[in-house]
Amino acid sequence: MEHALQHRERVGVQDFVLLEDYRSEAAFIDNLKKRFKENIIYTYIGNVLISVNPYKNLPIYTEEKIKLYYKKAFFEAPPHVFAIADNAYRSLVYEHREQCILISGESGSGKTEASKKVLEYIAARTNHLRNVENVKDKLLQTNPLLEAFGNAKTNRNDNSSRFGKYMDVQFNYEGGPEGGHILNYLLEKSRVVSQMTGERNFHVFYQLLAGGSPELLGQLKLQNRPEAYKYTTDLTSPQSQKNADADQFRIVQEAMKVIEIGQSEQQAMFEIVASVLHLGNVKFVQNDKGYAEILSHDANSGNVADLLKVNSTKLREALTSRTIDARGDVVNTPLDLEQAHFARDALAKAMYDKLFSWLVTRINSSLVPTNSDSRSSVMGILDIYGFEIFPKNSFEQFCINFCNEKLQQLFIELTLKQEQEEYLREGIEWESVDYFNNIVICDLIEARHKGIISILDDECLRPGDASDASFLEKLTQNLDGHAHFKSHRKVDSRTQKLMGRDEFCLVHYAGEVTYSVGTFLEKNNDLLFRDIQSLMASSSNPIVDACFKDVNLSSKKRPDTAITQFKNSLNELIKILSSKEPSYIRCIKPNDNKAPMTFDDKLVSHQVKYLGLMENLRVRRAGFAYRRTYDAFLERYKCLSSETWPNWRGSPRDGVQKLVDTLKYEREEYRMGNTKIFIRFPKTLFETEDAYQL
Ligand code: ATP
Ligand code: MG
Repeated sequence: MEHALQHRERVGVQDFVLLEDYRSEAAFIDNLKKRFKENIIYTYIGNVLISVNPYKNLPIYTEEKIKLYYKKAFFEAPPHVFAIADNAYRSLVYEHREQCILISGESGSGKTEASKKVLEYIAARTNHLRNVENVKDKLLQTNPLLEAFGNAKTNRNDNSSRFGKYMDVQFNYEGGPEGGHILNYLLEKSRVVSQMTGERNFHVFYQLLAGGSPELLGQLKLQNRPEAYKYTTDLTSPQSQKNADADQFRIVQEAMKVIEIGQSEQQAMFEIVASVLHLGNVKFVQNDKGYAEILSHDANSGNVADLLKVNSTKLREALTSRTIDARGDVVNTPLDLEQAHFARDALAKAMYDKLFSWLVTRINSSLVPTNSDSRSSVMGILDIYGFEIFPKNSFEQFCINFCNEKLQQLFIELTLKQEQEEYLREGIEWESVDYFNNIVICDLIEARHKGIISILDDECLRPGDASDASFLEKLTQNLDGHAHFKSHRKVDSRTQKLMGRDEFCLVHYAGEVTYSVGTFLEKNNDLLFRDIQSLMASSSNPIVDACFKDVNLSSKKRPDTAITQFKNSLNELIKILSSKEPSYIRCIKPNDNKAPMTFDDKLVSHQVKYLGLMENLRVRRAGFAYRRTYDAFLERYKCLSSETWPNWRGSPRDGVQKLVDTLKYEREEYRMGNTKIFIRFPKTLFETEDAYQL
């Protein structure tokens, strides 16, 4: 048998449970840093993988490395994302337990890269299986395609995912991938109409402009310069960037081909992308009555109308006026300049957002297994935004942090539940561990009637003078005194200053966050004027048609607010994940400059807190860190006792008992379960491994 520990790394500890001083954050960070300096980016806390973004290509993803992880127990090879993937794969295929891999971390920490490595590993691991090439290709190609439409350059990450993603990979009874399904969450659609300095719009705009053939751009009435469009004004982009965008466009087109998105569908997609660009350039003038008007020869609105195949006069009207149905009286009111800009941007955002959701649905239809059998099972991979604390936090951060609270709740439930169940199965006494249960915060946010979401929705639906300020007032009235809510009347401990009058603070499990309520109502309402909706429903672009025709214009019932939709889809997700066995990858960004070999202690310390890693370690240390079946344990270590070597004739359990007696394990160090030995500290195991190697 191969000597497993010849691969063991001797830098720091490869599992944090081995840290002498496991309660010390300084010791924790020191261990991460020591390893990082040696290009060792992975470390475990038990079965949770911590990954520090190296910001450079390391030779750790080669074919050879992949092979190293085939069928390995965790501690037989250095910590790696492949180990997580292999373990999940084996549990799924050989033990028939559905799996999910939950990847979290802040922007730029390496979540998306990790999720790709998982997929690549699975693809390589199933190489011996026939008839799955096509599906594997499709699964892998979903990445460049979704990234083109859903990722953008931000100040934190040149390829930042601006949406949350959960992907199920479906496996047949042989363990071959046979299909998949993607769920998407909260695309950051505000980016369509404006970006912060130094940031860009979604990649696809630049890719199309740089890489589209003259013929295609001609059809779309586009110039090949992003500077020409208000939504993509990016004066700093150098030629090298344009070349990269053009190259990427070809990769995206190739991906579309693999996913079987045909020419006419591609055309319809690019017509929408182009329409968004033209829409951004639509100019309004103020007429003598003080209202907004689009000149009839305005080429931009004409282009939008042509591309979407809607009536151009009607489009101009819809962008400059609004029909209100007030108790049966239909009144058409003109919009002022500000309202018209708002309507235009709302349309651009809605179109792009719907295009993105359409794309996900379209990819899913291509990933439906051709001949699925009832014995198939799935592995889910979640790549979703981590906890966010910015100098200024708004509705988006509120949604994202709510999502993280829910995932933390799931983490607590699943890991503790999983532990408890295994102890029960194995007949080992369960020792309860105390930990902070963040359910109080989840309730504070989502409880019926009294939760923040419910209060926000009430204000959004309340006719009359509801405003961000009245929302804040209601929050304060209802929640003042709650241990995790601080009103603006209280001191913000983070900044040691009084909060602004338009702010409230939540004490999240990961720390305090101050939110400013400005635009909460508007973003939650997410209104698209009715005239624009009905005009879009008349489009003969098949995608626009599909996206807008479902909107029931005659319905008096308001669609769910943005936060309620998000809450519902999140609860769906939690339901899906709860039925699976989880593995965790926690990603850490070592510095703010996208620089290799630079480890910023303070920045890392923040993330260790936000990710709840110290708590995670404490809980892990409280129980038995490792366990192995008697068979496997005996097979590996039987040479360490003359009683079990070369052959043990009794039961594996008795054999293991003999072994640990010879090795002088203390009573506190281990327990004998029904089928497995439980070892409290991996140190014990490593000492055994060392003895084995001598
Ligand atoms: P966001 O939340 O913004 O989407 P993210 O956590 O998904 O961020 P990634 O896009 O995965 O972050 O990583 C950011 C960049 O860091 C990558 O484009 C890549 O350059 C680098 N990177 C991440 N992980 C690795 C890795 N394992 N090896 C080498 N480079 C990496
Ligand atoms: Mg990402």
